[in-house]
Amino acid sequence: MKLVEKIKKNRLLSVVIVVYLLLFITIPDKAIVAISNSIYYVLEMIMIMPVIFILTSLTEAWVPKEVIINSFGEKSGFKGNVFAFLLGSFSAGPIYAAFPVCKMLMEKGASIANIAIVLSAWAVIKVPMLANEAKFLGTRFMAIRWVLTTISIIIMAYLISKFVNKEDIPEVEGRIKEGISINKDYCIGCGMCAKICPNVFYMEDKKAKARSEALTGLVADKINEAIQACPAKAIS
Ligand code: SF4
Repeated sequence: MKLVEKIKKNRLLSVVIVVYLLLFITIPDKAIVAISNSIYYVLEMIMIMPVIFILTSLTEAWVPKEVIINSFGEKSGFKGNVFAFLLGSFSAGPIYAAFPVCKMLMEKGASIANIAIVLSAWAVIKVPMLANEAKFLGTRFMAIRWVLTTISIIIMAYLISKFVNKEDIPEVEGRIKEGISINKDYCIGCGMCAKICPNVFYMEDKKAKARSEALTGLVADKINEAIQACPAKAIS
């Protein structure tokens, strides 16, 4: 039973393991190449991700939520789009390094459209690479590609924001409509919040969760007490 639960929790990893096993049985040569490529990327991630996590954590701790909301939030408008575009364009590193950054931005109030812009610009508009592109493919090619890519990014961001809600995104599943957000990565499962305010907070799989429906009529200072008491500062 435990194995089934673990497989359910790690569906993607389980599928990858099955694919590798099938590959080893059917085309072992390709399986060895695939394994060595995977090891290369895992080692690359091990070198890059700690730095990204440290920078993301520092930004999360030091940059006030209001700044993120004003700069990247729903009401940031064209200015927010430009900031998101610049953030993505001037970033360095592979695209997977953008995911924790975007998760942090989203938890602090960035809009879906601006997250899409950051990710897209991070993936295909790297300012340091433009000079190289112009050198090998010509300035005209680089300039036209840049303009068309930028237009596509804006259209894509608009469409994504129309079809995807924040509630659809697992990273913010702890967030509830009324504004309480629990950072699952920070939560150490001490149960303090559930003890102070059991109408709202409860424990599941050693992590705190919040009930949105229980908020009606609840005394706000109990929630505030739980926020203040949280030793991991996981509730906001
Ligand atoms: S008080 Fe904070 S750390 Fe403890 S369970 Fe609640 S959210 Fe998690």
